[in-house]
Amino acid sequence: MSAELSPGDGGRYNDSGLTAVGGRDDEDFLLLSGIQSFSFCRRQWALQHIEQQWTDNVFTIEGKLMHEKAHDPYFTEKRRDLIVSREMPVFSRVMGITGKCDVVEFRRSADGVTLHGRAGLWLPTPVEYKRGSPKVNDADRLQLCAQAMCLEEMLLCGEIAEAYLYYGKTRRREPVTLGAELRERVASLFSEMRGLYARRHTPRVRKTKSCGACSIKDMCLAGLAAVDAGEYIRQRLEDDT
Ligand code: SF4
Repeated sequence: MSAELSPGDGGRYNDSGLTAVGGRDDEDFLLLSGIQSFSFCRRQWALQHIEQQWTDNVFTIEGKLMHEKAHDPYFTEKRRDLIVSREMPVFSRVMGITGKCDVVEFRRSADGVTLHGRAGLWLPTPVEYKRGSPKVNDADRLQLCAQAMCLEEMLLCGEIAEAYLYYGKTRRREPVTLGAELRERVASLFSEMRGLYARRHTPRVRKTKSCGACSIKDMCLAGLAAVDAGEYIRQRLEDDT
């Protein structure tokens, strides 16, 4: 299980995962996975993470089912040159985020790091499982890159050059290069996110093409916001008569 892995000096684990890190309490950390919704729509993220509202739709339910398959706690596969850790807690005190990796593969490598209770050196590679097909936007790649940056900070290893996204529809792994530009976007998005969170600010509705596939569009009232308020009240009065 992941708790067997030593997180370097970046923090400490207990049975329930992460405890205090670098002077921050748990509640000071934002959820790593929020970068997906934040890059999709700032308002969606704020409604979920600041106002704590959430409604499932078919996309999110299917996604959860798929994650349950990948998340098999207390299970670590070990082959000669490979250790597979599932549902591994990760964090970054630099970015102030915490989350979990679906899968982290540790391959034996001269460029790797030591792991508690394991002989040799091991190089970590995160693998994120997703429902559906590869997306046109960068949401999945941003999340994966953030996971890798957390692992680098926790394990004090060098830069992880490549990681993988696995898609349920194609049943294939996609390699993702974790270059400087992607890393800068991750850091910048979390910085912006922390700013909004500190002010507890939820951005206003800005209706875009993305709203059609949004899992919380009913709650967001995107359709209502697009209608003139006077016109809306007139329509309601007419409906009631
Ligand atoms: S409905 Fe549109 S504006 Fe509202 S949260 Fe979803 S994507 Fe954002």
